[in-house]
Amino acid sequence: MRYPEERRLFEELWKNPAAIENANMKSAKLHNNEIVKMLAGTPLPTEYGSWTYIVFGDMTNGQFHTAIVYGNAAKSLKRSSRTLLRVHSACGTSELFHATNCECREELEEALKRIRKAGSGIVIYMNQEGAGNGIEAKVKAYSKAFTWKNGRVVGARSKDGKPISIYDAYKFLGYPQENRSFAVSAAILKKLGVKKVRLMTNNPKKIEGLRKHGIDVEPYGIHIKPKNKIMREHLKAKAKLLGHNIDEKDL
Ligand SMILES: [Zn+2]
Repeated sequence: MRYPEERRLFEELWKNPAAIENANMKSAKLHNNEIVKMLAGTPLPTEYGSWTYIVFGDMTNGQFHTAIVYGNAAKSLKRSSRTLLRVHSACGTSELFHATNCECREELEEALKRIRKAGSGIVIYMNQEGAGNGIEAKVKAYSKAFTWKNGRVVGARSKDGKPISIYDAYKFLGYPQENRSFAVSAAILKKLGVKKVRLMTNNPKKIEGLRKHGIDVEPYGIHIKPKNKIMREHLKAKAKLLGHNIDEKDL
């Protein structure tokens, strides 16, 4: 019976998706196998205009990722020589439930707006929660970084009074502070026939990550002004601990 084996695999995958991805990535490389498969695509009407929505299967971890291409992808992808791009990692708490501790939803919306204004571009939406550590790790880290005070959620503080960032919490739990591989996003771009991009990010690791996998990247800054204290601390931690290019005056 295979079922208990699969359960074990799922539990391992929830706990540490990056470990499984890395092992499968190595094996794929060794056997010259593809790491993504284009599964299906459709035209999609949105608040940001008409797009092509394409779903990809990730052969390293069984997850789905999506690419949303402005306009009719069959035509629009051929038009520009350098594609405006956002590689965005899923953040369900922010994007679906409008959590206010991080800037993910606003950043995604800003990217969609910029692409509409430019008339072409792509958002690759990676099912890569918690800086690649997975949703289980993310929720455990959140539970260290947030606490209750008088019936409201506030940022937790360490014994010496310093705010505990999500990244401090990952470290405390034994996870890397940045655990995303950009091999799969690069493979998705190649499937779409895109090799040169103008990447909307303030994360130098994302730029390096795509370059390492053969994408010609021109950086294009994107920044969301913090809307509250917790978000401000989060952005400060990104700048300080992960080296994101965020100007002091924007915090
Ligand atoms: Zn977020």
